[in-house]
Amino acid sequence: MNSRGIYGNKAAIQSISSMFKSGRMPHSFLLYGEKGTGKKLIADYFAAAILCENNHDGEPCGECHSCRLAKSKAHPDIIYPEKSGKLMTYTVETCRNVCADSIVSPNNGAAKVYIFTDCDNLGLSAQNALLKVVEEPPLHVYFIFTSVHKDSFLPTIISRVTSIGTAPCTADECKAALAESGYNDEDIKGAVGAFGGNIGMCREYIDGDELKGITALTRAAIDSIINSDEYSLMKALSDPVLKDRKLSRQFLDLFDKTVRDAAVLRYRENAEMAGCSPRKAEQLSHRLSVKSAQRIHMLIGEAAKDISANVSSSLVMTALCGDIINS
Ligand SMILES: [Zn+2]
Repeated sequence: MNSRGIYGNKAAIQSISSMFKSGRMPHSFLLYGEKGTGKKLIADYFAAAILCENNHDGEPCGECHSCRLAKSKAHPDIIYPEKSGKLMTYTVETCRNVCADSIVSPNNGAAKVYIFTDCDNLGLSAQNALLKVVEEPPLHVYFIFTSVHKDSFLPTIISRVTSIGTAPCTADECKAALAESGYNDEDIKGAVGAFGGNIGMCREYIDGDELKGITALTRAAIDSIINSDEYSLMKALSDPVLKDRKLSRQFLDLFDKTVRDAAVLRYRENAEMAGCSPRKAEQLSHRLSVKSAQRIHMLIGEAAKDISANVSSSLVMTALCGDIINS
């Protein structure tokens, strides 16, 4: 771990450091990677490094006035534009205001950093509103975006930002991070068992019941496919928890990862697992041909799209259940 509490992600930190060293700092960045892999932490670290008074090769000193303000999220030149609406994202108006505001000189430091997080739902008009300023930002302005998928952005934006990927830590790094935060061994074991080196997901798993419930449902759904038990599949997919759009998306994501893990295991026995249940993925790999796994993966993808398009989660889950049984 470095001074700012970032575990793993050596490659991302290194590329930030080498940009500082080269003295050729781009002004717009995209940090992309799986949910829970530290994108926001790295964005904050990066912003602190840009504004630090004693920046040493891209590492913020953590002690100067600017670093202290950044640490307490009170730096007037690190700006987190406001999100709004059902999708909790940035409106066109917010983006236009950012463009107008970016021309104004910094308050305290030598630069201004705008951090836009979770941009996967950022609309096309909002992106277009940002395009010009991202392309030619004022000299004192930096933009940092975060998203799960790189292709959530228009190609015109992607071609103008420097993209840096984030990745989960190793299971050991994750265990160390969680232990340092004061979690107990049993919780850590359960969380790392389900989410490997993804610290963010592990924290969410331990801190609340929602993710535990979704993980249990995912395992039940996988079990039902392993046992060709249609009734259990129906029961899992009609669980009232899945009426919630966000939770049903999360369920589909975990479900899909385990199905993909099973498919990968058909090719490589010791492949790295992405889903929340490596053991079930292994059992599933004995039951499903690669073709059936691909078919289920496709069906889950369609279900996720329908949910994003506002179709009722219950309807989507019922249809998905029928499609899997008939596939
Ligand atoms: Zn500093």
